[in-house]
Amino acid sequence: MPANKQRVIVVGGGLAGLMTTIKLAEAGVPVDLFSIVPVKRSHSVCAQGGINGAKNLKGEGDSPENHFDDTVYGGDFLANQPPVKAMCYAAPAIIDLFDRMGVMFNRTPEGLLDFRRFGGTLFCRTAFAGATTGQQLLYALDEQVRRHEDAGLVRKFEFWEYLRAVLDEDRVCRGIVAVDVRNLEVRHFRADATVICTGGPGLVFGRSTNSIINTGAACARAYQQGAYYANGEFVQVHPTAIPGEDKLRLMSESARGEGGRVWVYGDSDKVYENPFIRDDKGNPRKFKCGETGKPWYFLEEMYPKYGNLVPRDVATREIFMICTRMGLGVRGENRVFLDLTHKDPAELDRKLGGILEIYEKFVGQDPKHVPMEIFPAVHYSMGGLWVDFNQMSNIQGLYVGGEAEYQYHGANRLGANSLLSCIYAGMVIGPNAVGYLKSLKKSADDVPESVFDGHRKIEEDDLASIGRMKGRENAHLMWREMGQMMTNNVTIVRYNKQLQETDDKLREYQERWNQIDVADTTRTWNTSVLFAKQYRDMLHLARCITQSALARNESRGSHYKPEFPDRDDEKFLKTTKAAFTPDGPKLEYEAVDTSLIKPRARKYASD
Ligand SMILES: Cc1cc2nc3c(=O)[nH]c(=O)nc-3n(C[C@H](O)[C@H](O)[C@H](O)COP(=O)(O)OP(=O)(O)OC[C@H]3O[C@@H](n4cnc5c(N)ncnc54)[C@H](O)[C@@H]3O)c2cc1C
Repeated sequence: MPANKQRVIVVGGGLAGLMTTIKLAEAGVPVDLFSIVPVKRSHSVCAQGGINGAKNLKGEGDSPENHFDDTVYGGDFLANQPPVKAMCYAAPAIIDLFDRMGVMFNRTPEGLLDFRRFGGTLFCRTAFAGATTGQQLLYALDEQVRRHEDAGLVRKFEFWEYLRAVLDEDRVCRGIVAVDVRNLEVRHFRADATVICTGGPGLVFGRSTNSIINTGAACARAYQQGAYYANGEFVQVHPTAIPGEDKLRLMSESARGEGGRVWVYGDSDKVYENPFIRDDKGNPRKFKCGETGKPWYFLEEMYPKYGNLVPRDVATREIFMICTRMGLGVRGENRVFLDLTHKDPAELDRKLGGILEIYEKFVGQDPKHVPMEIFPAVHYSMGGLWVDFNQMSNIQGLYVGGEAEYQYHGANRLGANSLLSCIYAGMVIGPNAVGYLKSLKKSADDVPESVFDGHRKIEEDDLASIGRMKGRENAHLMWREMGQMMTNNVTIVRYNKQLQETDDKLREYQERWNQIDVADTTRTWNTSVLFAKQYRDMLHLARCITQSALARNESRGSHYKPEFPDRDDEKFLKTTKAAFTPDGPKLEYEAVDTSLIKPRARKYASD
């Protein structure tokens, strides 16, 4: 088939989408790039702390193999190992690539790239550009994409929302249907391959550290069309966020990477029986809760080697327990101190400027002089659409990259590994999609127009009927309620009874959704109609996440059930694959490829 007839659609202009676009354009393949917001406002722009790559410039003996081991161990062995290994080995060159593109990474006084420590490793492996790394990386890729746009290889469709994949009679993906969010015009677009890079589903949990685009609706739509959703139950709750009424603003792990210490005032009358650290007989280890009235640096005491930089799932659980079970939170509330006041203010400005400003702006106190008050918040999804090692979903011609897919982090993601996995996935998808295009016997142009019309009509009718809804329910209020319930029951500590009640309630919300009122009847920037549709998709995803959690009767990585406190490799060293049915997800399990590193117990306290 002549290459010039073929084109690829990339949905999403974050790091994963832009890198995919660049790799395709470099191979001469035309790309149509879709994004709800201008690509430079994609959520990747918010990433703060850095990107991992074992360059060992500090002479600590770090290596890609160490990075691989930390990632697999940090993910509690749930990730298929070959792609993780390939990513970790590619990481140093990825950092060099961005350095050459002009990203202003911080440097040491000798002029070398600077690296800091992040959670779940003992090495300084995280390259960073102050505390605005995501922005610098995204802008660097945007510049490259604009060169290809200028050359006519890339067409951008900003303010267009993906609604569905166009599947032909053989269920091969031949393009997409999308809506122009400015005027509700629905159109179909032909393509020989489609790549979904639409980011994570943070909004399913209501308030999170994510931006408001991260509904997960695009993935939910692919799921409803037959794509598997994998490991949905693995949701990362970041240990350090600034509590807020509107959202929970991240306080990046880089604050601890630069020496930030987590503490609460001790209480020498209290003893904490730590369920996560056991003695030789398997009993919880007992910790005296510091000295009354003095700072108790509980992470440093419990995890002497990793200290404040234990992996996120570990730090989050401890902070949660210290506040909720031991009642030691600041002023008895759900918050602990994150303290940088012992550090040199000038150095803090140089390395953490952006995030300290955020704290000062929203809390009104200068963290260089007053300890910050923080609490865990929903942050990231290890789960996502299932993909094979070439990043193709189980729908032929539909690829997935970035936080939208599940492949690189297992049961818990290490900090600064996501920017890496997004960029790396783009580098994998590009050449694989080119190979796929070459293998096609038939082009999207050969598919009858009626197939595209059929898919487009489904979406036109759906949006029109949502626009006519005149019920009693308010979609935004229901979404807030759902988010609170998901946060309470499907995050840090999970009980089967509550998970079941949550799923029952989600079914009730699905019923109530039919009674919502869409007050806005205009076609101009009608976000009410689009949000109502996204919310219906979020409900499907919420059920998928909740039921996947209900079925996994073990504790692994971010998934902790006190009723099943141990990891159960025999039954659950498996990827959850959820298939959509109108009655809820149907779950199946797939063996994890652990061919390179033998699973071992995860013991950060005694390592
Ligand atoms: C506050 C914060 C700080 C972080 N800091 C770090 C860090 O320092 N290091 C690290 O490794 N990770 C970090 N992460 C995680 C990391 O930022 C994200 O996982 C990553 O940026 C996701 O990139 P992405 O390309 O997959 O998606 P995104 O950057 O979220 O982009 C998604 C794109 O899809 C588009 N889109 C979504 N839905 C649709 C639709 N239906 N139709 C059309 N377009 C759509 C959006 O417009 C956007 O262009 C951080 C996360 C948060 C929340």
